[in-house]
Amino acid sequence: MRIIHSVSQMRAASESIRTAGRRLALAPTMGYLHEGHLSLIRKARQDADDVVVSVFVNPSQFGPGEDLDRYPRDPERDIRMSRDAGATILFMPDTREIYHPGHETHVSLSRLPVHLCGFSRPGHFQGVATIVTKLFNIVRPHIAVFGEKDYQQLQVIRRMTGDLNFDIEIIGCPIVRETDGLAMSSRNRYLTPEQRREATVLFAAMEHVKDRVRKGERSVKVLLDAARNRILQAAGANIDYLVICDAGTLEELAVLDYPARMAMAVHFGATRLIDNCPLAPAASPV
Ligand code: AMP
Repeated sequence: MRIIHSVSQMRAASESIRTAGRRLALAPTMGYLHEGHLSLIRKARQDADDVVVSVFVNPSQFGPGEDLDRYPRDPERDIRMSRDAGATILFMPDTREIYHPGHETHVSLSRLPVHLCGFSRPGHFQGVATIVTKLFNIVRPHIAVFGEKDYQQLQVIRRMTGDLNFDIEIIGCPIVRETDGLAMSSRNRYLTPEQRREATVLFAAMEHVKDRVRKGERSVKVLLDAARNRILQAAGANIDYLVICDAGTLEELAVLDYPARMAMAVHFGATRLIDNCPLAPAASPV
């Protein structure tokens, strides 16, 4: 596995891979890798000859007062884990390499970012769309893999890729969870042992709602009230949002319609966790 820090070397490596007729995949990350990230790298490896894993903590997607400065970092461990999972290039640029002084161009979408995380993280998806556009232009992959863990982000990237005519196939990968159901996240390490125990209510609430849906409940209000009650059984939980929305547009639904997605963000102390799941009608697999 090659480690590359500069944009020009990354471009040259991509060019020689493409010239050799090899298929190139990109897995963008902010590092501090865990099994969720590794599942993306393994999927990319199945579908491509070369896999670039980018590790870049992107300042433009963090708002004022968010955790940019204390975001967990462990480059040595990221190098080992990417290599073991099958990455062929690790692209680790520093901030100045990506954002030159005077940088003033951004990519933004009109509708998708106003939902879900958009309320409490204004500007976040502009930061995401901008860095992913830059990575697409630098790495020039044939395919790019993203996790459903960040479901809104995945929709934003799919839309942006279509709208801006990037010739890149976007692949979504399922959420990887701890054995007790908590979605893996680099931010889980911020949780105290008690918060970590309480955080399992997110998964429990989704399982409860899926069960109610299987039994025929279609009222979004009834389903969300049930989910809210389940989540608030954890004394430390503070709900940012809890919605059932259209899986494509992310617009909130009043009656469960398909395809639908349940999505939530919940604070435990200063740590904000997100999770989501598909809601499927009775008799189809969830
Ligand atoms: P991050 O490093 O948090 O920006 O995440 C990088 C990529 O890994 C994104 O596409 C995430 O959706 C994905 N990812 C993070 N956690 C998980 C998880 N638990 N399961 C699947 N994908 C994940």
